[in-house]
Formats: sequence, C-alpha cells, structure tokens
Amino acid sequence: MPALLELRGVHAAYGPTAVLHGIDLDVPEGRVTALLGANGAGKTTLLRAVCRHMVSVRGEVRLAGERIDGRSTEQIARLGVGHVPDGRGTFAHLTAEENLRLGAQARPRHPGRAAMAEALDRIYAYFPRLKERRAQQAGTLSGGEQQMLAIGRALMGEPRLLLLDEPSFGLAPLVVRDIFAIMRRINQEQRMAILLVEQNARLALELADTAYLLETGRIVLHGASEDVGRNDAVRRAYLGG
Ligand code: ATP
Repeated sequence: MPALLELRGVHAAYGPTAVLHGIDLDVPEGRVTALLGANGAGKTTLLRAVCRHMVSVRGEVRLAGERIDGRSTEQIARLGVGHVPDGRGTFAHLTAEENLRLGAQARPRHPGRAAMAEALDRIYAYFPRLKERRAQQAGTLSGGEQQMLAIGRALMGEPRLLLLDEPSFGLAPLVVRDIFAIMRRINQEQRMAILLVEQNARLALELADTAYLLETGRIVLHGASEDVGRNDAVRRAYLGG
C-alpha cells in the first residue's frame, strides 16, 4: 500500500539558495513519522515544501497517490494537509475561539453551526485549557497555550495529515510532555498521520513509529524509531551519548 504522503526527489529553494537536495520520504497512513536534524538542516523547509508555503519546489509530492506538488497552499490544505508552522502563526488580536473557527476554512466545505460547535467541543476535549481561555486574545496566551491553539486550529480543518513544526519550541518540559501526550491521543483516537519536526529527538522518537534524519538537505538515515534511536551517530549528536 502506498504511503499517505510520498516525497520523491524533492528539491526546495529560497530564490537562489537551494536547501533540500532530492528528498525521498514516506509518511504512512495513521502513523507518526519524525524528522530529526540539526539547526538549519532543512526540516522546516521540508514541511513548507509539502504545503508549498514560501518556498519553490521541484520533484514529486503525492497525497494518497495524487500529485499535489502543482497545487496552491490553500488547495493542499483543502485536500487534508494541516500545517502547524514554526512560530505557531496564530492571529494575536483574535480570541482563541476565533482562531479555531478560522481553522475550519481549510475544509472543502465550511461547516454549519452545529458541525462547528461539535468540532470546537472535540478540540476543547483535547485541550481544556483552550476552553477556559476561549475568549482571550491569542497574543496574550502563554507559549504552551498558543501551541495548543495552533494545533487545535489545524485540527479544525479535519486534516488527514498533520505537519507539526517543533511543538516543544520554547516550552517548559512539563508543558511539552502534556502536548506530546495529547498528540499521541490524537494519533491513536483519530488515526491521524503526523509528520513531526522536533529538536527534542528523545521525545520525537518516543512518539514516532518511524524516523528520518536530515543533514544539510539530504536524508542520511531512516528506519523504525527504535533502530534510529540506537544508531551511534544519532545517540552522540541528538540523544546526549
Ligand atoms: P531549525 O531547527 O534551526 O529551525 P531547520 O532544520 O528547520 O532548522 P530550515 O529552517 O528549513 O532548517 O532552514 C534551512 C536553511 O534554509 C537555513 O540555512 C536557513 O537559513 C535557510 N532559510 C530558511 N528560510 C529561509 C528564507 N525564507 N529565505 C532564505 N533562506 C531561508
């Protein structure tokens, strides 16, 4: 069975600056795939290349077998790719709930009032903190709450695939644990496929089924998370020996 997301020979560049050099990568249906690598390796760029966000792309990107590399960012979102970008990208002056409602625009058809309320309830069940803070301006939420909001907003689009860019960035360890536990539930309960970019390799490998290691724009290693975690180079560089 083909993977839900397939990249074949993907190159990506910002103007004259080439960043990805021929990436082959698969994200299976219902699984968590981690993308590890040092600062500047191109992890964020790889997620952007999938949803054609601010980067030019060559090569093949398929979602459920269908080429999406010629599509626009909006079309790719409507086809079921939710992107939680680095920096989270929530609208600071809108309330938490207004941000969540905007997330539903990524659906092929805008939900009616009842479906919207149901979707919000589902998100609030995962993130009770967001329910408490639903009327608060997003810009005044804590870092952890903003990350939850960014994930919740992407989920409002009912994606088949979630691209998550460094959910742990800048957050206290306990908050990170919480967010990863919720990601595990979302993956298990909704069978949602996740492509996770994460600096914290230990946490990423705990959550993920398979992992890829990116070095200066090339995949240098991939396999089951346990095997990648046992690799000497990975242990030395990313797991602290
Ligand atoms: P980090 O973990 O530090 O976020 P990363 O692996 O996600 O790193 P990218 O953010 O994808 O790496 O960056 C890869 C390279 O692309 C870097 O050299 C970066 O300077 C460059 N780059 C990123 N965004 C742009 C941009 N908008 N214009 C030009 N170059 C960029």
